[in-house]
Formats: sequence, structure tokens, C-alpha cells
Amino acid sequence: MHIAIEGCCHGELDRIYETIAFIESKHAIKIDLLLCCGDFQAVRNAKDLESMSVPPKYKQMQTFHKYYSGERRAPVLTIFIGGNHEASDYLWEMPLGGWVAPNIFYIGRAGLVNFGGLRIGGVSGIYKSHDYYKGVFEAPPFDNQTMRSIYHIRDFEIFRCKLISKPIDIFLSHDWPRGVYHHGNVDELLRKKPYFQDDICSNSLGAAPLEEILARLKPSYWFCAHLHVKFAAIVNHADSQTRFLALDKCIPGKDFLQVLCFPDSDEPKELRYDSEWLAIVKATQSLLATDRWQPSLPSQGTDDFNKYQANEDSLKEIEEAFQDLRVPENFVATAPVFDQSAAVDSAPPSLAENPQTLELCRKIGIENFYKQSTEAVSFEGEAAPKGLEAPNPDEIDLDLEEEEEEPPLKQPKNDREHEETGSA
Ligand code: 5GP
Ligand code: MN
Repeated sequence: MHIAIEGCCHGELDRIYETIAFIESKHAIKIDLLLCCGDFQAVRNAKDLESMSVPPKYKQMQTFHKYYSGERRAPVLTIFIGGNHEASDYLWEMPLGGWVAPNIFYIGRAGLVNFGGLRIGGVSGIYKSHDYYKGVFEAPPFDNQTMRSIYHIRDFEIFRCKLISKPIDIFLSHDWPRGVYHHGNVDELLRKKPYFQDDICSNSLGAAPLEEILARLKPSYWFCAHLHVKFAAIVNHADSQTRFLALDKCIPGKDFLQVLCFPDSDEPKELRYDSEWLAIVKATQSLLATDRWQPSLPSQGTDDFNKYQANEDSLKEIEEAFQDLRVPENFVATAPVFDQSAAVDSAPPSLAENPQTLELCRKIGIENFYKQSTEAVSFEGEAAPKGLEAPNPDEIDLDLEEEEEEPPLKQPKNDREHEETGSA
């Protein structure tokens, strides 16, 4: 079984699928699955661009809309997580994951699925300490603040991941687990990205909650993106290893794609829900806060924590409710397809509850617990007067790569500096 892993996608699906076709013909292999590690940009129409946090010059339709409208079909099953540049109103519809287009599956805010006998988990978004303990209070229409905070990882998602107890084969995140660079060739990494020096010395590059997940779940493989550089490492645990691989963003000449060979199993190569994960989702649903703060969650190792783990009864309940754990091919368009001739504002916002989410919640036996609001919700105080908006702490110029070709004229922006001078 061959699995292709891709770093940041940035809406470049045409290019990624062309690259896959090229590799398939060059090596006479068939790629069974594509995993994309965020900044996917599932932009359906011009309206979706409004909910995507990127510098203005990157507000481009790119190629995803063709796969959404049916003009093209993804030639290989594609699973992705979210990053920090996403069509947030679209991903918001599917917090537990779902098809964003035929054959293209979003794993959800956090998720775990099965394919060909492999358990593949992931967490969407990036870590910002100031939003980590918030509830999932954001709902469309997003304002300037909520279109960013919506993709900041929450304690709740990490809590759910920590409850997984059966072995995981592959885990996906957008940012790197903090500290992972100490397990690979850090000198070479610093030659490629000298401005990581300070962050590496202070062990602050990457996300602390992802470091916890890595130590807890010990997946066989961990793939990620975000820092726009290829980097491999082997993390040794007491009794096993994690093979770590970060990839670059999808730009010609960059190391954005890697194909790995996995042993074939008796399980069919099709997408399935994971019963342990669904049992965890069900057990923890009542703990999710959808207002400002997430009340504190049980700590790993306590009795209170253990009672949210899946057990024989809860697994049986899920298996009975689902009968068939195959993910149904139930993609439905919930917003108009891109119309080049239409004015930007003409596409109505997608406020419908996504039928896939409703169906999944009904089967699990939970409510669709994310709030649907008609007003922008913000807890950051009054909106700043025009022109005085706080700097976006996540906005790191995507031109960075081009700047690196030349000796940098200025120090690339460190996003924590922004955080300190920002609104938080
Ligand atoms: P994005 O494509 O998500 O806007 O930004 C990714 C870029 O930001 C990459 O070029 C990466 O090197 C840089 N970056 C992201 N997080 C950090 C960080 O914590 N420290 C440093 N030095 N650079 C970062
Ligand atoms: Mn990113």
C-alpha cells in the first residue's frame, strides 16, 4: 500500500494530483491514499474567501472549487486536517469531519479514521496559548477575530485525543510537536532555517499540546507541515518509536510530497470510522463548552479521566448503532459553487447545518453541539476602529520562502512577537 503525504496544500490540488500521477507512472505504482497536513483551503466560492485568514494577495480561489463543483474528481482518496489558512466557514460545518468534496475527507477539529487497516488520527489548527482554554464559541459569520481564533487548538480536542488507548499508526498535525527537532538533525534544520535558532534554543518552536499527544499516543508515524521545511526525526519512546516527517508547502522545487510504502492488510482500502474514537466523542460530548471558557477537563491518569475512555460497553454501543463503519459517501454541497461571473457578495453565506454532521451526530447519539448564530460572536471587546485592527498573530508572510533565496533583508516575523504586541 502506498501513501502520499503532502505538507501545506494552499489550494494547489491540481498540482498535487499531477505530481501523484507523475510519480505513479514513473515508478509504476498506485498511490492508495493522500494525506494533506493543513492549510488546505477548501474554498467553495467567493464568499468562502471572506472567512479565510490570509494576506490579501493570497485571497485566491485556487483549485479546490473544481473538485467541489464536480468539474474534477479527486483521483485518490484524500484525507486532510486544517491549518491556519482555511475556508473556516466551511470547515466549521463539520467539526467531527466529513466530505468537503467527493473523495476528499476532512478529519475534523480532531479525528481518527481507519483505512486499509491503519488507524489515522489528527488535530486541526495551530496552538495559541491565549485561546487554548476557550470554548468553541465561534460561529459564522466570522469577524476579523473569530476567523482566526476558530482554528486555534482547544484543550477539549487534545483531551479527546489523550483518551485514545489503542495503538495509532499515523498522526497528523499542522504545526510540529514542540521539541521534535531534538530528535533529528537539528544542525541541518538550522542551516535551512537559521531564524529558528532562538525558538529551538528556548525549546519553544512547535506546539506544547502536540508534544503531549506525541508522548501519550506514540503513533508509529507523525506527519506535519506549517514550518515550510522537510525534516525527519525518530522519536524513541520507552517501548517503541515514532517516525516523524515534516514537509514543505506545495511549490515547484520544494520537498512538499513524500510517498511511503505500508504493508498491505486484510482490511479493505476504504475509509471507515473508528469505533474507539466515536465512543470517546460520545462520552465527552457533554463536556464541550460552546461559550467563552472551557471548564477544566479531567487530567490524564485520574479516575475521572479514565471514565471517559472507551470500554467494552461503549464500543458495543457504537458498533450496534453503526452496523457498518464505512464512512458513507454522503457528500452534499451546502453552498453555491464558484461562479466566475457573479459578484463577490452574491453567493449567500452557508448557514445550513451540514447534513453529514447531522447524520453522524444522530448515529452516535449526540446533538450537533456547535452553535449556529446569526450574529458574529466576539469576546475580545469592542471592534477596533478601522485601520487600528490588532496585528494578526498568525499572519506570517507566505513570501518568506522567496525572501530566503536572497540574504534576508529583515528578520522574518516571529509570530510570538506578534502575539505580545497583539490584542491578546
Ligand atoms: P503560514 O504558511 O502558516 O502562514 O506560515 C508558515 C511560516 O511561518 C513558515 O515559513 C514558518 O517558518 C514560519 N513560522 C511558523 N511558526 C513559527 C514559529 O513558531 N517560529 C518561527 N521562527 N517561524 C515560524
Ligand atoms: Mn500554516
